[in-house]
Amino acid sequence: MVTTELRRDPITGRSVLIDLTAQPHPHDFVLEPVRLDDAPAECPFCEGREADAGPELLAWREGGPANTPGWSVRVVANRRPMLRIEGGQDRRVEGVFESRDGLGAHEVVIETPMHDQAVHRLDADRLWRVLWAWRTRLQDLKRDARFAAAVVFKNHGRAAGARLDHSHSQIAAYPIVPAALDEKVRGAGEHYGRTGRCVFCDLTAQELTDGRRTVSDTLSIIAIAPFASRVPFEAWLLPRDHAPRFEEVSDATLEAMAVILKDVMARVDWALERPAYNLVLHTAPFSGDADAGFHWHLEIIPRVTRWSGLEWGSGVPRNPVSPEEAARALRAVAIG
Ligand SMILES: [Zn+2]
Ligand SMILES: [Zn+2]
Ligand SMILES: [Zn+2]
Repeated sequence: MVTTELRRDPITGRSVLIDLTAQPHPHDFVLEPVRLDDAPAECPFCEGREADAGPELLAWREGGPANTPGWSVRVVANRRPMLRIEGGQDRRVEGVFESRDGLGAHEVVIETPMHDQAVHRLDADRLWRVLWAWRTRLQDLKRDARFAAAVVFKNHGRAAGARLDHSHSQIAAYPIVPAALDEKVRGAGEHYGRTGRCVFCDLTAQELTDGRRTVSDTLSIIAIAPFASRVPFEAWLLPRDHAPRFEEVSDATLEAMAVILKDVMARVDWALERPAYNLVLHTAPFSGDADAGFHWHLEIIPRVTRWSGLEWGSGVPRNPVSPEEAARALRAVAIG
């Protein structure tokens, strides 16, 4: 019986090693349950401390003026932005070196006014508002001709890079197409050039037929454990029909996404006992050049393994849990 397998990601072409030589050892996993404790007095994201988080760029409010309590989702500029809205677009070239100003946008989406509420515990209609905030901000950032692409991401727990416990996600817009997105755009473009089809559509169709890696399913969105999962319990959420960009999805698709995202996050949370995780939204670059072959999607990346010299040296992650087993375990979680 083959217990290790090199699997190739159909989009990026990158390989992972699914290694089932031994049952995963406890030391393969970093299980540090994320706890959302009482709000520290200085949490800037808690309701009532709007001034500390900064002026809002967008909010979903039941009432009340901007920058006061009464919101359910609130978007502000990051107070310590890694990319700044002021700056030039010019490239500087010096021999083999190329640089440019750290121009861009870096925004924070405060997902709930309540400090101790994890995002998967929000009602689906409140989670819908978080997705609505992502969509609205992406639409706005896209209008800035200086930006080439944006990614939305979420860090949950220290092991996933979160500095603050209070549930939030971030939006970063770049003057370039950042590497992780660019790699997918190129891989998808190559598949499109060869076959005339979107690789994400092909993979979604295949997964729906196969079923072994399906985690959850709605009429419009499917959740799978990807064939070449880089980490245990990695999950991707993909619209079933071809759609290059998240910022153009309908309210109904946002609704379906909120339902399935809550469902899958709750399953991962239960199966891995409140793991740290990252969430990544990939939407096509703003130029539109990649739209025929690119397909927006969301990735859930539990941070329960540590990458060693093996991963950094080879670029081939070793994953001790097969995606089929992860999908089976996630499907088995009783949600209720
Ligand atoms: Zn808070
Ligand atoms: Zn597609
Ligand atoms: Zn992606």
